Formats: sequence, C-alpha cells, structure tokens
Amino acid sequence: MDAATAALASWQLPLLPATLAVLAVLLYWRGWRALRAQLPAQFGAARLAAFLAGVTTVILAVASPIDAFAPLLLRVHMLQHILLTMVAPPLLWLGAPALPLLRGLPQGAAKHGLGPFLAWPPLLAAGRFVVHPLVAWLALVIATLLWHLPGPYQLALRDPDWHQFEHACFLVAGLLFWFPVVQPYPSRARWPRWAMVPYLLLADAQNTLLAALFVFADRPLYAAYAAAPALTALDARGDQAAAGALMWVAGSATYLVAAAAIVIGWLNGSALAPRAAPPRPPPAPRRRLDLLRVPRLGAALRSLALRRAAQALMLLLAAAVIADGLLGPRMSPMNLAGVLPWTYWRGLVVIALLAVGNVFCMACPFMLPRALGRRLLPGRRAWPRRLRGKWLAAALLVVYLCAYEAFALWDAPRLTAAIALAYFAAALVVDGIFRGAAFCKHLCPIGQFHFVHATVSPFTIAARDPETCRSCAGADCIRGTPTRRGCELELFVPEKRGNLDCTLCLDCVRACPHDNVGLLAVAPAAELATDPPRSSLRRLSERPDIAALALLCVFGAFANAAGMLEPVLRAEAALAARLGLDSPLALTLAALPVALVALPVAALGSAVAIGHRWSGATATPRALACRLALALVPIGLAMWSAHFLFHFATGIGTAVPVAQRALADLGVALGSPDWSHAAAMHAPAWLTPLELLLLDAGLLLSLSVGWRTALELNHGRGRPAVALHLPWAALAIALWVAGAWIVFQPMQMRGMVH
Ligand code: SF4
Ligand code: SF4
Repeated sequence: MDAATAALASWQLPLLPATLAVLAVLLYWRGWRALRAQLPAQFGAARLAAFLAGVTTVILAVASPIDAFAPLLLRVHMLQHILLTMVAPPLLWLGAPALPLLRGLPQGAAKHGLGPFLAWPPLLAAGRFVVHPLVAWLALVIATLLWHLPGPYQLALRDPDWHQFEHACFLVAGLLFWFPVVQPYPSRARWPRWAMVPYLLLADAQNTLLAALFVFADRPLYAAYAAAPALTALDARGDQAAAGALMWVAGSATYLVAAAAIVIGWLNGSALAPRAAPPRPPPAPRRRLDLLRVPRLGAALRSLALRRAAQALMLLLAAAVIADGLLGPRMSPMNLAGVLPWTYWRGLVVIALLAVGNVFCMACPFMLPRALGRRLLPGRRAWPRRLRGKWLAAALLVVYLCAYEAFALWDAPRLTAAIALAYFAAALVVDGIFRGAAFCKHLCPIGQFHFVHATVSPFTIAARDPETCRSCAGADCIRGTPTRRGCELELFVPEKRGNLDCTLCLDCVRACPHDNVGLLAVAPAAELATDPPRSSLRRLSERPDIAALALLCVFGAFANAAGMLEPVLRAEAALAARLGLDSPLALTLAALPVALVALPVAALGSAVAIGHRWSGATATPRALACRLALALVPIGLAMWSAHFLFHFATGIGTAVPVAQRALADLGVALGSPDWSHAAAMHAPAWLTPLELLLLDAGLLLSLSVGWRTALELNHGRGRPAVALHLPWAALAIALWVAGAWIVFQPMQMRGMVH
C-alpha cells in the first residue's frame, strides 16, 4: 500500500461525531439564512465561513490521518491538540453559533423544547459560571497540564475511549477559554476588553513553559513514543523536541495574534487613533489617574525637600560605592561597587520604568554635584550647536556597552568606582560651564537609556487641562519664576508629548502658577504610535539620532544578555582557540560593534526598504526608519527587564553580607557576614514565566505600535499598512524568538560567589 492510499485509508469518521457535525452544519445553515435576512450586519458570510471552518477543523483533528498517526508521532499528536484547543474553538465562536443553531431548529422544538430548557435559571447560572474568564482560563490550563502528565497521556495512547475523552476535554476547555476572548454575539463580556490581553499572555506563558519542557528535555517523556516504530528520520527525542517547537510557535502565534487584534481594536477606539491635525493638544480625560493628586503620595512626590533627601541618599550610596570600590576587597561579590550598581540599581531601574517612569533621574545622585558645579564655575555658555542631539550620547552608550564586556565591569570594583567618579566630575564640569541641563540632555548615557525606555512607562508629565495652558500668558513651567526653576530640559508642558527627555524633576509642577501640571496615566508606549511636533524635540520622524539611540538600546538589550550565556561564551572560546587567540576578548570586541551598530542598521534598513517598496508609502525611507525604530523599544525594554530582573532575583540577598562587611570596616559591627548569601540563588520558579511574560508583552506592544505607525504612515489604508508592517513585524518577532531562546539558556552568574 503506497503512502497516499495509506493516508486515505486512515480517514475514519465515527458515526456519532459525523452525525453531530452534519446536523450542526445543517441547523446552522438554516438558522444563518433566516438571521441574515433580519440582521445582515451581524450575520454576514464571514460568520458562516468561520463556523464551517471550525467544524472542518474538528473533523480534520479527529477523523483524518492526523488521528491515525497521533499514537506513533508525538508531533502529530501535538498538532491534533492544537487544532482542538486553539484553532477550532475560536473559529466556532466567530460563527456566533448560539442564535443560528437555535433558529435552525424546527419552530416547535425551539419554542417548546430547547428554548425553555436553555432559559432554565440553574442552567443559565451554570453557563455563566463556566464562561467566567477565570474559570475558562483555568479550565484550559488545567486540562493542558493534566493531560500532558505521563500517566494520563499514556492512558489516552493505550485506550481509544480515553483518547476520545481526552479530545472532548481539549475541545470543551478550548471552547470555554476562547469564549471571553471572542465574546460571540450576542453574549456580554464579564471583564473589560483590555483584560483579555493579560488573559492571553498568561496562557501563552504557561504554553511556552510546557513547550520548552518538550524542547529541552534530555530524554523522551512518554515511554509509548520511545517504543513506537520509527516512521521518520527523527528519533523519539527529536520527535518530542519538534512537538515542543510546534506547540511553542503555533501557541504563541495564536495567543499573540489574538492579543494584538484586541489591542489594535482597543487602540482604534481610543484617543490614539490617528489624527488629521496632531499639533493641537488632546483634551485631557477627566478621570485620568494623576499620581500627584493621590493623597500623601502626591504631596511626597511634589516635596522638594523629599526630592533632595532622595538625591542625598543616592549620593551617599554612590559615595559608598566609590569608596568601597577603590579601597575595599577586589572580589566583586564582596564589594559594594560589585553589588549595588550591577545587581540592585539595574533591577530597580527597570521595575521603576515599568511601574511609573524615569524615577531614577528624579533621585539622580549627580544632581547635587551639578548644582555645586554651577556655584563653583560661573560659565553660562550655550551647549555647542554641533553637539546638540543624541549622536554623542549614543556614541557614549556604545563605548559603555563595549567597555562593560571588554573590562568585565561587573567583576571590576575598582573600575566601576573610577567610572562613577568620572561621571561625577563630568556632571560637575559640564553643568558648571554650560547652562541648562546640558549634561542630562546631551551627554549622560544613563539618562538617554531612561528617556528612551520611559516612552513605555505608564505615567507622563502633562497639562491637566489644556484650556488653562491656552489662556496662560506666563509659561512659567518652562521659563520659571524668580524663586522657582522652570524646565531646564526645554520642555514646554502644553507642547510636551511623552516622556522623552523628561527627568521627572517636577520643576514644572512647582513653577506652574495654576497647579496645572500632573503626573498622568497614559497607555504604555502610546507616545511611540504618533508623531506630533514635540516641544524641544520636533517630530521624531525628523530625528535619526533618536532613532539610532532607540535602535542601540533595543539591540544592546539582546547583545548584553547574550554575552552572559554559557553557550555563547563556549562558542566564543572555541572559535578563539581555533584562531589561535589567547582569549576570546578580541572576538567579543569585534562582535559588539556588529551587534550594536551594523546588525540593527542592516535589519531595520532591510525591513524598511522592503516595506517601503511593498506599501508604496509616500514618506521617505528615512522617516519610516525613524518611526519604526522607535516601535521596537517595547521589545527592547522587555529584554532588559528580563535580564536585569534575573540578576535582581538571583542576587537579592547579596547586599546583606556586603553591607555588614563594609560597616565592619568602618568599625560598626552588625554581625559576621554570611557569604552564602553572596552566592547566586537558584532562579525561583516564577522567574522564567515572568521573563517570558515580559517578552510577550514587549512584543505585543511593539507589534501594536508598529501597526499604528504603519497605518498612520499610510493614511489609514489597511493593505499598504500591512505591507509596511509585515517585514518590520518579522524583525520584531525574530527579536522575541532570540529573547525566548536567551531566557532558557544557562547564564553565567556574573559578579556572584561561585
Ligand atoms: S505655566 Fe502652567 S498653565 Fe502655564 S503653560 Fe505652563 S503648565 Fe500650562
Ligand atoms: S521640568 Fe521638564 S524635565 Fe522636569 S518634570 Fe517637568 S517637563 Fe519633565
């Protein structure tokens, strides 16, 4: 029997499912025709097509050769599960089947039989309970996890009845899960629409974890497949890894596409919709959360004394880092300079960026030396025009990222202290010579890192009531008053858009005589999706320097994290040995400019060139590249966050023995240090799911910002927008794949006791 005949012969449709499928299609068809005449907008051809596709998918899963080969090949069995849980259910719900099926029944049966039964209150209550998002989510997760345990899985492989039961469980759990996501007509949502995004992302996280188990397991998990006859070149472990990869890619693609569709729908209906005339400030929604109006918190944030205290505390910590770095032990995990900046500060910075915004600049320890510089050095020069913009800061960021790897800064307390000292000196001299906040705005690489990533933060400084600004003659928020400083970063609140260049110093808040400046909630990354003229920055489509800085931050995130992976380090060492080099350092130094500059330029340049050609967009490729580079910032921040939170979580106990040692050196005895706390802890079980969740959320945000950007650049025309978006989205997804690979690799525990 040849393969085609064998495949045809393996089709088998049991009588009961076949009858049910035919009956469902006939009833639906009949009801749909009647409803289409009454409600054409609700029951178009797409509904019918979706329902038929859903039924066909179920048939394909349970009756085709897929079912016949499922007990022999794990990847085929996985495909069967994916069809039943992720493909068929949303298609069936998109058909909005409740009304057509009911309407398709003979009138008497609907009116006197099924109708009253379906209206029975206990049944309605039970129905409401099982489609509650929490119950529905748990149903799919629990069904997936339970049926993939070796015992139940092998039982289903051995016994056809259990196998059918397993399929029924997956289909029902899938239907429950997708109900609140699709929310089929005419049902009502129990949760707000936006809540479906974390709903899907969390499901994706558990799906990814399970898939990773299949991909990375070093032995077959199910004995039945190990004993099955080999049908292909792949052995049982290879088959299992292929099944995991299928689950990973198909699952993530389905969940993320659904989440992206929800976000896009949400954005389309929100204030982020493209505007024909963007220069006018958008009206401030009345009920926007304003952190400065939250009792106590608002007063604390506005308090200059508290801000100075926070800066003084940070200055004290910086002084301790410098002193210990220069004079303390050379072992990084025993030195404050090895622990506070590289484990704590970086972790806390990303938490602050994700939760509020650029809080670090608010409490920046360089503020006080800068103020001292202004007193000591009377210079009032303007920052040189040629050095304006972000090119210099971007170059410094490249130097820093290269120096980090070249000099192993995480393991070099002396050098860390020296860099901190140089930073203080530069801040003092630059702000002593030049007026305004020249150091923050044009030089500080740390500040630029915060500015770029704060574009994804959920709060921004903005005018509470734009009308008040229109009637305000003084503009004190930027000019200042004799007693209160205005914005040194040259941001005029009514024309300020987003968080770029804002240090959250709140000088504008204190200077505004109308108490009209708030720290207002915004949709994360929303500012990246539009291109209005921005105070002091112009339109971002005219700023290749800001795009270059953003691209550097994005690719720097992946290069920096990859640099600590055992497989990458082993490959570098092997290549260095083959080339006869004493150490892989030269290779690292050669690879970094490629990873930080050449690769981003080539990748984005190609995506933009292809998108420009396909879409026929009227904007120049340069303007497209400037916009689309910024749309990658969320996935970049996600990678930085996953990386830094890994160090933070695994090194959280390090500060205790180091502080005890440092204080003992000063004669303050607080017990003897337990250095076991300076050893890297095992990563907690929640860490990898959290890292994946961050990457998922980052990709989702990037995709939605990219889509909004593509739509705006094509004047709202869908097809050209898709053509522009697609190549760029491939780049964003490639970054996400790289990030997911990174979080599953063994990490070098930099700066920890081994
Ligand atoms: S001083 Fe206040 S009211 Fe006047 S423009 Fe600035 S933020 Fe608006
Ligand atoms: S004064 Fe300028 S930098 Fe400071 S918070 Fe206001 S807008 Fe941001």
